[in-house]
Amino acid sequence: MEYTELGKTGLRVSRIGFGALPIQRTELKRAVRILHVAFDHGINFFDTARSYTDSEKKIGIAFKGKRNKIILATKLYGKNKKDILSLLEESLKQLQTDYVDILQLHNPQQLPDPDDKDSQYTGLIEAQKKGMARFIGITAHKLTNAIATIESGFYDTLQYPFSMLSSKKEIELIELAKKHHVGLIAMKPLCGGLLADIETSFAFLWQFENLVPVWGIQRMKELNQIINLSKSPPPLDAELRKKISEERKLLGSSFCRGCGYCLPCPADIPIPMAARMKYLLRRAPYRKFLTVQWQKNMLKIEHCKNCEVCKCRCPYGLNVPELLNEMLSDYIDFAKTKGIIIERTKGNI
Ligand code: SF4
Ligand code: SF4
Repeated sequence: MEYTELGKTGLRVSRIGFGALPIQRTELKRAVRILHVAFDHGINFFDTARSYTDSEKKIGIAFKGKRNKIILATKLYGKNKKDILSLLEESLKQLQTDYVDILQLHNPQQLPDPDDKDSQYTGLIEAQKKGMARFIGITAHKLTNAIATIESGFYDTLQYPFSMLSSKKEIELIELAKKHHVGLIAMKPLCGGLLADIETSFAFLWQFENLVPVWGIQRMKELNQIINLSKSPPPLDAELRKKISEERKLLGSSFCRGCGYCLPCPADIPIPMAARMKYLLRRAPYRKFLTVQWQKNMLKIEHCKNCEVCKCRCPYGLNVPELLNEMLSDYIDFAKTKGIIIERTKGNI
C-alpha cells in the first residue's frame, strides 16, 4: 500500500481511504470482516460520520485494541459549540475511543465565525483542547465554501467531491490545497454511483498525490477491486483520457450527484435517485428501477408542489424540478422500450 502525507496534519494515510457510509447497509459481522481485511491490506484511513447510523459503532467494534494503528475521521452536523461537543462525545462512545484524528464539520451552509465564542468552530477548537480531536476540517459540496475553507487557514483538512467529472475549477482546488498545506480528502470518487468505470475513476484520482479518495465500500468484492487497483494502478493513458472526455461530454455539468442535501421533499419524491434516473437506467441493472414501486416513486414527480426548497438546498445550483421532469419523461420513454406502459396521472408536464 502506498501512503501520503495529509497536508499540515502530517498524518501518513494510505492513498486509499475507506469511506464508511455504505457499511451501514452491511450486517455487523460482515462489516467487521470487511474492515479487518481493509486494515490487513494496509488501509489505515477510515472516514465515517455521526449521521451514518451505526457506521461509527461498526468501526469501534472492528478496531477495538488497534486504535493507535488507524487514522479515524468523523464528521458532525451541529449548530453551535455545545452541539459539536455533545455529538462528539456520542461519536467517541460509538467508536470506542477517546479521540478522533480528524473532526470535520459536516457540510455547513457557510463557514462558522471563528470569533463567535459559541460557534461550531469554537466547538472544534474546544474539542482539540480537550484532546478529543487531533485535527479539524470541513466537508463541503459548494466550491465557494471549499475555497474559503482552504484560504481561511483555520482548517487542517477539506473533504470535497472529486471524480473524473470534476470541473477545471474544482481541479484547481488540488493545487490550492497543496499551496496552503491543507489535507485534501476526496468524497464520492464514483460520483455517488453514477460512474461505473472504477478503473478509469481510480486512474484519474491516483494522478494527484495530495488527494486521498475515500472509497465507499459495502461489499468485500468492492474492497478487493480497489485493493487490486492500488497494487497495480492503471496508467492514465490516451485510451482512459478518451473515456473520461466521453463521460464528461455525456453528463455535462448539470447532473445530480445524489448527495441528498435537497431532502426532505414535501411531495416525498426520492430526489437523489429520481434526478439521476436517466443514467441509473443505463448504467446499473435497469430492471430494479422498473418495478411497480419505482414507477409509483417516479410518478410522484407529477405532484411536485413547486416549493423550490430542493432548488435552494442543492449545493450544485441545479434546477431540480426541471431536472426531475426531464427524468420522468425519459423514464416513461425508456420503460416503453422495455414493453412497460406507464400512464401519467396528470397528463403531460
Ligand atoms: S420543488 Fe418539488 S421536488 Fe422540489 S422539494 Fe418542492 S415538492 Fe419536492
Ligand atoms: S438534486 Fe442536488 S442536492 Fe439533491 S441529490 Fe442531486 S445534487 Fe444533491
